[in-house]
Amino acid sequence: KMLYSLFAETVEQVPIAISITDKKAKILYVNEEFCRVTGYRPEDILGENESLLSDKHTPKEVYHDLWRTISAKKIWRGTLCNRHKSGQRYLSDLTIAPMLNETGAVTHYIGMHRDITQAY
Ligand code: FAD
Repeated sequence: KMLYSLFAETVEQVPIAISITDKKAKILYVNEEFCRVTGYRPEDILGENESLLSDKHTPKEVYHDLWRTISAKKIWRGTLCNRHKSGQRYLSDLTIAPMLNETGAVTHYIGMHRDITQAY
């Protein structure tokens, strides 16, 4: 098998919810675990903003800190209150990493999260 298709299948099947967005958090790609954790199918959520997942109970300062960090090309990690498609709330342990091009400019963001509700 070609290494490239092995990479693609690895991202698809890795047991962490992964999404890739543009610079404004518009969702361009989601893997299988993302669909399992959020309840959304790719056709439901591709083209939407990540804010679709927000339960609207996460303090605004958390989002400010998130955007300040990632737009400065740094990795952000934190806990957000998200909402499953069914309406059920869950706690998301989220890491967002900026993807940079050859000139060092941010082109995309990669989000990786897990449902940590059980830990509380
Ligand atoms: P927004 O209108 O998005 O704004 C909230 C504040 O964030 C604004 O006042 C502004 O300070 C800042 N902001 C928003 N967009 C930008 C921008 N393009 N550049 C600079 N600053 C900006 N949110 C979740 O709730 N759950 C998630 O699981 C989640 N995953 C994300 C994954 C990735 C890869 C990225 C990039 C973002 C993710 N977000 C997530 C953040 C999400 O995009 C929203 O910013 C957030 O949900 C708040 O939405 P809002 O509509 O309440 O406010």
